[in-house]
Amino acid sequence: MGEIIYGYAFHGKVRFSVVDSRDFVEEARLRHGLSPIATAALGRAITAAALFTPWLDEIETLTFDFETKGPIGRIVAQGKGDRTVRGYVANPAVEGEMKDGKFDIASVVRGGQLRVVRDLGLKRPVLSSVPIISGEIAEDITNYYAKSEQIPTAMVLGVFVTKEGTKAVGGYVIQVLDAGLSDSEISKLESSIKEFGSITSHLLKGEKPEDVALQIFGRDVGDYIEESVRYRCSCNRDKALQSIAVLDAREIEEMKRENFAEVVCKWCGKKYLFDDEELDEALKLKLNL
Ligand SMILES: [Zn+2]
Repeated sequence: MGEIIYGYAFHGKVRFSVVDSRDFVEEARLRHGLSPIATAALGRAITAAALFTPWLDEIETLTFDFETKGPIGRIVAQGKGDRTVRGYVANPAVEGEMKDGKFDIASVVRGGQLRVVRDLGLKRPVLSSVPIISGEIAEDITNYYAKSEQIPTAMVLGVFVTKEGTKAVGGYVIQVLDAGLSDSEISKLESSIKEFGSITSHLLKGEKPEDVALQIFGRDVGDYIEESVRYRCSCNRDKALQSIAVLDAREIEEMKRENFAEVVCKWCGKKYLFDDEELDEALKLKLNL
């Protein structure tokens, strides 16, 4: 399970969350068979989604959908208010270049759009999108909050991954809620973010999210809560069968002839196999759609 803490600092003028996301990013890597650079890209995106879960309603979802122009294709990460996350990339086997000893994620993203969707379970989810300006994930999400929601946001994400798997993954986000944050408080915050540096180097030393918050905010940290975050998908057999029912009747008949119908959940990689009888059921469902 990932560990998250969230709370306030600077007398409630700032809210923050910090997550150690190695556990669920490693799960995403294994479920989807992600290459190291795909792990780095999706790992950053689902770490970001996890960071926002404390501020969502229990059933609300927040999705960061990077529709990139690069070889990775789409990078989709979703967080839910119940502290669960899931995500996928269109091309899990993508290979990428290194730059300064790190994976150059921007080289597999190469522009496109970041769509952000908030869904409260009502009929119409709230949609907003901004162009991808950096491809480094964190910068694009902070740019979205600045442009679309007018919330000054600082975010640091880090994924340390080798061919053997993830070694350290985490991130933090800080959002300024109150324009009353003074210039001296802002510069104090900026210099401690700079001094703190990369989050993975701290996590590799065994530091916890709490240690991260204490180093960044010092005595200005307020109350905070510690919880766990896990990878969980909401797919099930019924939904998988419904996804067959939306196909053409001819295609379903074809599956019946071949005696083979498999639905793979794009979010979690789970496979659902259906037999003849169930395909008849899908045809019946179809008539009712
Ligand atoms: Zn699933």
